[in-house]
Amino acid sequence: MIPRTEMEISKEPYSVDHTYKRFPVYKEAFVTVSFQDTGKMGYMLFLGKMLENMAKKIALGEEGYSQADNALDMGANTLNLLLGTYGFPNSQFLRWSPLFVPEMFAKKTLKLESEKLTEMVKQAAALYGADLTGIAGLDSRWVYSHDLVKPFKLVGSGEPEETETAFLIPERVNRAIVMAVAMDAELIEASPTVPGSTAASLGYSRMGIAAVSLAEFIRALGYTAIPCMNDTALSIPLAVDAGLGELGRHGLLITPEYGSNIRLCKVLTDMPLLPDVPIDFGVAAFCDSCLLCAKNCPSAAISTKGQITEGVCGNNNPGVKKWYINGERCLKFWQANGASCANCIAVCPFTTGFESMQCYECEKCDPQRRCELQVNTHLRMKYGYLKGEVWGNKPRVVIPGRRGL
Ligand code: SF4
Ligand code: SF4
Repeated sequence: MIPRTEMEISKEPYSVDHTYKRFPVYKEAFVTVSFQDTGKMGYMLFLGKMLENMAKKIALGEEGYSQADNALDMGANTLNLLLGTYGFPNSQFLRWSPLFVPEMFAKKTLKLESEKLTEMVKQAAALYGADLTGIAGLDSRWVYSHDLVKPFKLVGSGEPEETETAFLIPERVNRAIVMAVAMDAELIEASPTVPGSTAASLGYSRMGIAAVSLAEFIRALGYTAIPCMNDTALSIPLAVDAGLGELGRHGLLITPEYGSNIRLCKVLTDMPLLPDVPIDFGVAAFCDSCLLCAKNCPSAAISTKGQITEGVCGNNNPGVKKWYINGERCLKFWQANGASCANCIAVCPFTTGFESMQCYECEKCDPQRRCELQVNTHLRMKYGYLKGEVWGNKPRVVIPGRRGL
């Protein structure tokens, strides 16, 4: 990772007011659009319309939407669907109890200094496919209030478990290990055609592998682990707390190493790990006048205005000062497109680093001074995350630390 010493901040990385409440999953656009389409509660029911339009585009022979393009996407998504299907708490391989770890390991806690345990966890996460790993204290505000039907309850003691009426998380589970998996930058550039979606599918498969494997590693050391993909808690604020990056105008995390071209997963644990520190490397200041994601969003789902706390639609959770996204507009474009979209990741200059041509589109460009993006690009080149022959031309993204899976 790029050293964070000069980026670390001592204040809270976001402003949260008294109106904030924990977010229920049933307010997510995946659920609300699924309900509008079918009258039933579910995450995936929105896919019906998307598949109809996918079939139409295959029949029309549209470039980037062929059967072969979709086949490549489906192959990339296999491990995601097998391991955790984007994240349903305590289901499939995301179970909250050991999968294969023998009891003699699960019941024997390896006691080591926090520094050593933290180092071991970060090394294991890298081996299982995480390209970035950070540790956060588990802030209960970021735990979902409800899944589709049941609440998540934070309780005093016991083991993590799912009862008939609730998901119970004991308060000793007070750390989140947040992992980012870098996506393929060339495939993402093809958004909104199907190869862009393939980058996301592969990212989901890789994050499933990382979350499930790391949880088993932690259990085999005698600690509790809850593996999560998109489920159980909000990944982005946990990643901000874990010092992995900052929130951008497009509602996604921007990391110093890969911009937003990542997927996030996490493991919640009672292992006494050392938390990392939130960072500021100028993202919010840059987003103030960049607007590229908003201008290139086909559904006008991204705000062109300043940060607010009220939210812009029923899918939002008000009370945090930020740029809110209209989730339903975004998802309805996916349906019409016959494939998911990642234009906001593809056009974000933090995805591929500084190119001088982007200056014409950024309202703050001042040739006399380096902007936050240029400073970040220098750092990415220095630490091996970007390669470029001529400064100002488009650099090439590299993933220097990837090991294992
Ligand atoms: S994924 Fe596409 S439609 Fe959705 S916010 Fe990003 S650019 Fe807009
Ligand atoms: S495209 Fe520009 S405004 Fe949008 S998130 Fe990236 S830097 Fe911020």
